[in-house]
Amino acid sequence: MAEYKTKEILKEYERSREQAQKDYKERIDYINKSIPEIKEIDNKIRTLGLEMTKLVLDDTKDSNYIDLEIDRIKAEIEALKQQKAFILTENNFPLSFLKIHYQCDKCSDTGFLTTGKKCTCFKQKIIDSAYGISNLKDILRKENFSKFDINIFSDKEYEGEESSPKENMQKILATCEDFVENFNEDNGDNLLLFGPTGLGKTFLCNSMAKALLDKGYLVVYQTAFKIIDILANYKFHDRTSNSEEAYNLLFQSDLLIIDDLGTELNNTFANIEIFNILNNRLINGKKTIISTNLTPLQLKDIYSDRVTSRLFGNYKQQKFFGPDLRWERQRG
Ligand SMILES: [Zn+2]
Repeated sequence: MAEYKTKEILKEYERSREQAQKDYKERIDYINKSIPEIKEIDNKIRTLGLEMTKLVLDDTKDSNYIDLEIDRIKAEIEALKQQKAFILTENNFPLSFLKIHYQCDKCSDTGFLTTGKKCTCFKQKIIDSAYGISNLKDILRKENFSKFDINIFSDKEYEGEESSPKENMQKILATCEDFVENFNEDNGDNLLLFGPTGLGKTFLCNSMAKALLDKGYLVVYQTAFKIIDILANYKFHDRTSNSEEAYNLLFQSDLLIIDDLGTELNNTFANIEIFNILNNRLINGKKTIISTNLTPLQLKDIYSDRVTSRLFGNYKQQKFFGPDLRWERQRG
């Protein structure tokens, strides 16, 4: 099963490379048809390139002469490239029009970096496939901070609270944006979002995940229930390499978002494993966001002191309150 997944992922890369090359060829054909000068310039560049190769291989000529000639040819090629760029923009084509457009610029849709290591996009695909998600980035496509409408929150005082739900959300929103903005800093930022459903916790988690995925970070975003499932599966059933990788990424991903903490099976195994993940990530300076419908008091009931002291001591607590906006439910 796991091997099958890797094969599938590699096939997916092959398809996207083929598509990128096909699109690229079509753009070239289109340009050659609409601007014949471009084709002429390309031919000239190719001829000069051949000339340069011949010179390098020619051992009958003086090396000073060869160096000078090579410099001359290089300058000529550079001038032709500039001319080409000029013609393109003059005809309203962006310069990127004649480049191959891969989905991932870092690995050119091969899944591997030049160092031989797996690219972030490959790891993200392994995460997504391990959790049965087709493409996290696609799912989160529509979620971002700019779509967050602060005005749906009431600006009237809320019983038992010192500020209105709106003022409260403004603070939380700022904290979340700050989290993304300074993600790269070693500032020990971790977030605990708690409060009833329907108040925007999921939307904010999605927005943060989306923003950081877009920046190329590796994000694991799962419910506590599914995370415990992955852990149990790895420890008791499936010790294949992909299962191991999915397990390791709970610890190594740049960001882990645990959704719905408290809804997983509550037993010693879960308790120990959750502690293990949170603790490991804290020690290694890896950031974590936790969202839960439970109050801190309820969390204390479920988890050992070891877990809750980690949570309350190292996480910025964001309390959501206000009338249910039925927001998350509406959005499905
Ligand atoms: Zn990549």
